[in-house]
Amino acid sequence: MTNRARDPHGAGIQNAEWFRLTYGNNASAQCEVCGDELVLRVAHPPHTVTHFAHKSGSQCSSIESARRHFLDLPPSAKDPQNGRRVREHLLANLYPIYLKAFSISGRKLAWGDFQRAIIDAQQRGLFDYAGLPVHYLPYLLLCICPQKFHDKTTYDTRDAYFVLQSGLKHFDDLWNKPDQVAQTLWKVSHIERHATRDPQGPGELFTELEAIAIDDAPFYIPPWLDKAHAKLAPHLGL
Ligand SMILES: [Zn+2]
Repeated sequence: MTNRARDPHGAGIQNAEWFRLTYGNNASAQCEVCGDELVLRVAHPPHTVTHFAHKSGSQCSSIESARRHFLDLPPSAKDPQNGRRVREHLLANLYPIYLKAFSISGRKLAWGDFQRAIIDAQQRGLFDYAGLPVHYLPYLLLCICPQKFHDKTTYDTRDAYFVLQSGLKHFDDLWNKPDQVAQTLWKVSHIERHATRDPQGPGELFTELEAIAIDDAPFYIPPWLDKAHAKLAPHLGL
């Protein structure tokens, strides 16, 4: 179950409530991660919110049981020479690569888990997959991390993991066929949200999908930074 999907009629990515208001309770939509049709599930407060569900048997990587299937895909070819360059770059830029993955993770990626993801990637031979560009490393390593990134605020408990587009034939299609494969990392967050009036009571359970563009920028700038700018500006006399 996810909160957002692609409109098959061309209105882009919209949330579940938008689909309900636009097309009614029987709206259907397209999953942005796997491309399959999704069905709308209308809210039954207080325990559910309006969301989308995949049809049974779906292998979409946004579904937790299928999220690591991507790692089992074969490469179209291997290139050990490029693999060596990638590993040398990784070792020489260990901390900057960690910092980018760390910031994408919502500052939740532990150093030990980052190291374990690197060793796992090496054991899987991923660095040798044909033509791997080094700027994909923080994104791949986040997907390899098996544990979920846990966050708790007064009203929300979140457990998140990261996935890439599903339905590929070869793992390296991600970077070798950028016109066919979404250059996106999705953060899938399973959320339990408690009402402001009753933070101890039963919470609403839902899944939130956040799209993060794969780029070669040295830093990841999180979307909440805009609010931080606005908050800080008056303190700086600006
Ligand atoms: Zn899907």
